[in-house]
Amino acid sequence: MNPLARVIAAEIAQAGPISVARYMTLALLDPRHGYYTTRDPFGAAGDFVTSPEISQMFGELIGLWAADLWQRLGMPPRVALAELGPGRGTLMADALRAARALPPFRAALEPWLVEASPRLREIQADRLAGSGARWADDLDGLPGDRPLIVIANEFFDALPIRQYVRRETGWHERLVGLDAAGQLAFALSPGPERLDGMLPAGLLAAAPANAIVEICPAGRAIATGLGHRLVAQGGGALIVDYGPPTHGTGDSLQAVRRHAFHDVLATPGEADLTAHVDFVALADAARDAGATVWGPLAQGELLQRLGIDARAATLARANPGRQAEFDAAMSRLTGPDQMGTLFQTLALTGGPDVVPAGFP
Ligand code: SAH
Repeated sequence: MNPLARVIAAEIAQAGPISVARYMTLALLDPRHGYYTTRDPFGAAGDFVTSPEISQMFGELIGLWAADLWQRLGMPPRVALAELGPGRGTLMADALRAARALPPFRAALEPWLVEASPRLREIQADRLAGSGARWADDLDGLPGDRPLIVIANEFFDALPIRQYVRRETGWHERLVGLDAAGQLAFALSPGPERLDGMLPAGLLAAAPANAIVEICPAGRAIATGLGHRLVAQGGGALIVDYGPPTHGTGDSLQAVRRHAFHDVLATPGEADLTAHVDFVALADAARDAGATVWGPLAQGELLQRLGIDARAATLARANPGRQAEFDAAMSRLTGPDQMGTLFQTLALTGGPDVVPAGFP
């Protein structure tokens, strides 16, 4: 067992099995041993690659999406451009560079980064030196006195989920406990638990024996908070993540280490842990809070509508000899068998009259 597994096993020995959500929180954000708190996981030399790390085009197009939204908002003199879970700060750096194409937007905006990891905050501060960027622990830390434009790429998939398994007796929560040898192992709550209102009744009723369903209370709470903020302050949000556009059943909890799948319980804090994002649940939460919801729309479709082909052609003309690189990045980001359809995008606005670019 690694040091964090020993800490978790001791907690379970004391107080009993913990939820999958508690396990994810400790594995990702434990102050001493957590995955995001202790390392820079991104890129070829790390564990996984995200869209902004694949190509500058991703952040640039999102920067232009934000600039367009600012115009549609009536060009407010001050706006917060906030990113949730900004990783290495690459998306924000690329977006700010693209925003310079519209100098009054760049002058109006203040970059804000919502980041839990002190280690990643340092990397972001280096990357964004001189940009005027500020940091917040959560949505509550963002300014309340001006419109907000919020971006989140692969943020919601890192939020802790709870899982429930269907047995003859009903739904039981999937927990992390200890096996006979004292190792971390999945267990079930004595239950049964009531899931009414947390997931559609039809989905629960139709689930076969041993089916697993997931909920992400933190994701819903953030979508609710975003909805309230956008209605009160004006603005919009763009959520990009891995997950199906409709509700489903199935265990989507996965660990990735050095670009390969890894046992979820084997080495907490040393592998990335994610779950599919339930876009229907996020959309419902934001809509209930009064926001207008656009999409979900496949990532490839949105990037195409935002003009990724033209951007790739411009970059290739300006950088002779790198055409193949831009073509490869474009097909990774938009290809139907690659990130183009596995990743979905959802936009939120404070009201129906502000139409976000790319969303019909
Ligand atoms: N958006 C980046 C990084 C995605 S990884 C990219 O596309 O490359 C997830 C990011 O969310 C990391 O920066 C991680 O530290 C941050 N994060 C995870 N849980 C968080 C939480 N509860 N609050 C704030 N940031 C969190």
